Amino acid sequence: MTIARVVVDVALDREFDYSVPDALQPDMEVGCRVVVPFGRRVVEGYVVALVAQSDLPKLKPLKGVVADGPLLSPALVALARWMGEYYCAPFEKAVRTLMPGAVRRRGAKHREVLVVRSVSTMESMEGGIAKLSAKQQAVLNAVQAEPGIRLSELTGRLGMSAAPVRTLEKKGVLTIEREATRRDPFVGREVLRSGPLELMEEQRVALELIKCTLDQRKSEVGGPRSEGQASDLRKQHVVLLYGVTGSGKTEVYLQAIDHVVARGEGAIVLVPEIALTPQTVGRFRARFGDQIAVLHSHLSDGERHDEWHRIRRGLARIVVGARSAVFAPVSRLGLIVVDEEHEPSYKQEDAPRYHARDVAVMRGHLEGVPVVLGSATPSLESWMNVRKKKYLLATLLHRADHRQFPRVRVVDMRLKGPDDKQKFKVLSHDLMESIRDRVEKKEQTILFLNRRGFSTSLVCQKCGHVAVCDSCSVSLTYHRQDEHLHCHICGSQRKVPSCCPGCADPEFKYSGVGTQRVEHVVKACFPQASVQRMDRDVTRRKDSYERILGDFRVGKIDILIGTQMIAKGLHFPNVTLVGVVYADLSLHIPDFRAGERTFQLLAQVAGRAGRGDVAGEVIVQTFTPFQPAVQAARRVDFEGFADQEMAFREELSYPPFAHLVCIGLSGKHEEKTAFSAQTLATRLRPLLGERVIWGEATPAPLARAKGRYRFQIILRCKSVKAMTDPIRNALTGMEFPGDVRVSVDVDAVSLM
Ligand code: ADP
Ligand code: ZN
Repeated sequence: MTIARVVVDVALDREFDYSVPDALQPDMEVGCRVVVPFGRRVVEGYVVALVAQSDLPKLKPLKGVVADGPLLSPALVALARWMGEYYCAPFEKAVRTLMPGAVRRRGAKHREVLVVRSVSTMESMEGGIAKLSAKQQAVLNAVQAEPGIRLSELTGRLGMSAAPVRTLEKKGVLTIEREATRRDPFVGREVLRSGPLELMEEQRVALELIKCTLDQRKSEVGGPRSEGQASDLRKQHVVLLYGVTGSGKTEVYLQAIDHVVARGEGAIVLVPEIALTPQTVGRFRARFGDQIAVLHSHLSDGERHDEWHRIRRGLARIVVGARSAVFAPVSRLGLIVVDEEHEPSYKQEDAPRYHARDVAVMRGHLEGVPVVLGSATPSLESWMNVRKKKYLLATLLHRADHRQFPRVRVVDMRLKGPDDKQKFKVLSHDLMESIRDRVEKKEQTILFLNRRGFSTSLVCQKCGHVAVCDSCSVSLTYHRQDEHLHCHICGSQRKVPSCCPGCADPEFKYSGVGTQRVEHVVKACFPQASVQRMDRDVTRRKDSYERILGDFRVGKIDILIGTQMIAKGLHFPNVTLVGVVYADLSLHIPDFRAGERTFQLLAQVAGRAGRGDVAGEVIVQTFTPFQPAVQAARRVDFEGFADQEMAFREELSYPPFAHLVCIGLSGKHEEKTAFSAQTLATRLRPLLGERVIWGEATPAPLARAKGRYRFQIILRCKSVKAMTDPIRNALTGMEFPGDVRVSVDVDAVSLM
């Protein structure tokens, strides 16, 4: 007897066995979506295993199989099992994460249209062609000129109803058939095809190394496992491609994928959501055309559904997508690429709180597929794995585009005396002069404001009063446009007081440092220049992101002011100056990765400046000029930064020298939430082994958000299991009052 082990959509961390009726046997495979009796109800679920025996004596029979064929491969089911285990999440939640909602939902369908074709033999027509009316003749002519035309298009074009077409169908002249059409996210976007570039020496070496891991694997398929060299390489299925900005990493990915496709295999390329621009996707489409499918959050549900099925059927073998594309159902997968592997946005914020880079590495391991991680500023986690010889390393230190590295100047913004004119200044004298120079030369400038952290708050320079949101413990952000203070967490707003509520200083409203303030100052200083701000508020309107970048590219904008949005993956040939308004803002977030983030950000921004013939210039304004992250960024020195930062992390047993788990609790009542956190900590502590470093239950740095109080417990240990097993045990059977919610974040990347 075959028994299907099923996870159901109802959130229960268990699998259930059902007997498979004979009639359903032929369709039964791991990954199938099935209908099963569950208590008194009938629910849907996925088959996660087929077994011969069950622990239970009597099994209910499965009711039916939904959809054609399995939606999930056994390898993906195994990946979900690992994910649930490692990230401390229920298995069926992990299974659900494998598919986009648009695919999972009942009734998710292909869109069908009516398509008209003429029948080739005219003899089949009763009475011959002479009997056609003028309208019918027009229809026939149009269909013969364009076989497979949509019915709606045909009638629209001829300006008539569908009646004559139906008549012709009855006469046997035409066929009208339902056909599935693809909702194509690329409609109307043509790209010029491009061929492979001649590689530079470093790129060639990197590609050889990647090919080596690919071929290694091929020669092992089916063959006996040999010890020594071969199995070493097999273990090292991950290549870290550390290449400075503009060193041509993408070209290496493209040629590696080419190699894979030539063998009849597919590839997945992960790109941070924010960098998934038409420009980025265009580079892949230029090389591989229709073999590219995209998966990201800007697709409509229909597009996502269709792209997913195109991948599953093998119609598109190369997937370019954001975080969740790591689960794309590519059969015969040959390679996974994770670009900008250090990006924190690869971490999912709901359970299972997976890190797409780490899932990629695990999927590669499970499916025997090489993984390439690329970055100009690798995460210390990956760097550590290179040091421990778990990952192979390929390095690109020269720019492929022959641009020179920009000169980076650090400007000390500290007050030099009681009547220092720098006070409250947005632009230092140096930055001002440099901008003036560019404006005169008709070159472009980017001003970058790192807004992560609490940067745009109003702080009274006289009495220190800060405007804070009533329901979230963050400072409010000042928006000049509507003269309102906005909370970026809960969205509430209120009018700006005309003077400081603490001391009545009228300068109060100018004391914040947001993009709007910078825009205001720059416009006042350079009235002749065209200035555009780009941040989340401006780009909330659809398409404005692309429009602004388009305007900037063609030179309609002289000075672009923005947040991290403009720091990523964009190439503007005429930008010769980048100013970082306050480099320190990201250093002040209460997170041990603050230095790493600052370095990454500065290095990214610096990569934007300069073009072939003109060396770009980067001006970094800071209150902490000697901070290691700032200094390393000035020298574009990743390895120097990594050495220093690693020493600090090792000293304190922070990642990558230990794994870190952050247990978060939130609730409407401060005391109940605090008490829950303390109770959990008390229960957990005796279960933890000696190796686990544990912290007390404390208020989170963002102590209140959307009206909910937030507490956290942080654990560190070299072994994840040594933390997650006790956490599961402590949480089992533990009841929390009212609305208190608990989350477990393994390898947390944000400790806010
Ligand atoms: P990265 O991803 O490392 O920042 P890109 O792949 O975007 O770098 O390459 C930067 C620029 O250099 C691109 O315009 C690209 O077309 C060009 N480029 C890359 N490799 C080569 C090469 N081998 N020869 C000439 N140009 C190259
Ligand atoms: Zn708020």
